[in-house]
Amino acid sequence: MTVVDAERHQNDLVNELIASVEAYNPGVDKELIRRAFDEAERAHRGQVRRSGEPFINHPLGVALICAQLHLDEQTIAAALLHDVIEDTETDLDELRAAFGPDIALLVEGVTKLTRISFQSREQAEAENYRKMIVAMAQDVRVILIKLADRLHNMRTIEYLGKQKQAQKARETLEVYAPLAHRLGIHALKWELEDLAFQTLHPRKYEEIKQMVAERRTDREELVPADISGRAKHFFSIYDKMAKKGREFNEIYDLTAMRVIVERKGDEGTRDCYGALGLIHALWKPMPGRFKDYVAMPKFNGYRALHTTVFGPEGRPLEIQVRTREMHATAEYGVAAHMLFNKQGRKQGDDEWTTWVKQLMEVDSAESDPREFLKTLRTDLFE
Ligand code: MN
Repeated sequence: MTVVDAERHQNDLVNELIASVEAYNPGVDKELIRRAFDEAERAHRGQVRRSGEPFINHPLGVALICAQLHLDEQTIAAALLHDVIEDTETDLDELRAAFGPDIALLVEGVTKLTRISFQSREQAEAENYRKMIVAMAQDVRVILIKLADRLHNMRTIEYLGKQKQAQKARETLEVYAPLAHRLGIHALKWELEDLAFQTLHPRKYEEIKQMVAERRTDREELVPADISGRAKHFFSIYDKMAKKGREFNEIYDLTAMRVIVERKGDEGTRDCYGALGLIHALWKPMPGRFKDYVAMPKFNGYRALHTTVFGPEGRPLEIQVRTREMHATAEYGVAAHMLFNKQGRKQGDDEWTTWVKQLMEVDSAESDPREFLKTLRTDLFE
């Protein structure tokens, strides 16, 4: 790629970024995003990634992931600038002067997290978790940028040395994917897990991918519904096979279908139960498989009705029923909450802050950091 080509390519990416933010946030301050890009591009100029690409493609990629999560314009700007303090001459004061205290705080928070390595001795590791939690408690947007940063790095992990790849992949499985799960952002969690799985166990990954591809045709013939996302999640198939000692067929022959009802609020909730009634009238439910996460949501806010029925040809069919709003929460978790309720993104009285507070309480009660780490791990993996 020539310099001119590279610039044109970057310009396309900035336009794509602005367009994707505008799609969910029509009043977006386009000039702010362009300015953040220009500053990042200027600061990182001359730096290249291991792949040989200009470095700026990384913050751009991270900002695009943040846009897919429908994050606000300050977060998008901070995502573009997230490596500027760590990797360039620009300092925090300059950022504050140019972009204001909020964006500067976000960049500072991400920089602090970047300096934390999770690959030290256990004691140091616990201390690191603690710092991470403190950073999160201040503004959850910091952790969302960090998750997007990790996802972009995992997508380009092939350019790292073998040892570094394995280290990053383990860290992703142990820290970042559980964190995405805790925040209910399944879209990120699945991709992080699959990329880490592919890095750590390339042969098993290929095997499962192959088996899934072979089954795809008959599955799609049977159920002409939206099953995207679920079919790609190879790590969870592997995890179930490994942990529960099941065969691929036992797990994968279970065809899944999702029903999304259109109405919102109480009406939507009633429609969910209505749809479930119709399904159970049509196909016999399998005993013990009905779960009501609408009346009793999961810890990360996940809501849906789950059932398994004896579907066409008597084959087991797993069905999830949810409203569009519940669906957004299922895919984007805390990020969807920020979209629906702009007040919810900062320290307030929401569920997220309660969880962080609980962790902080555990923190002060446990004088031994190893105990704290154990508690935190249990909580993240629950
Ligand atoms: Mn980065």
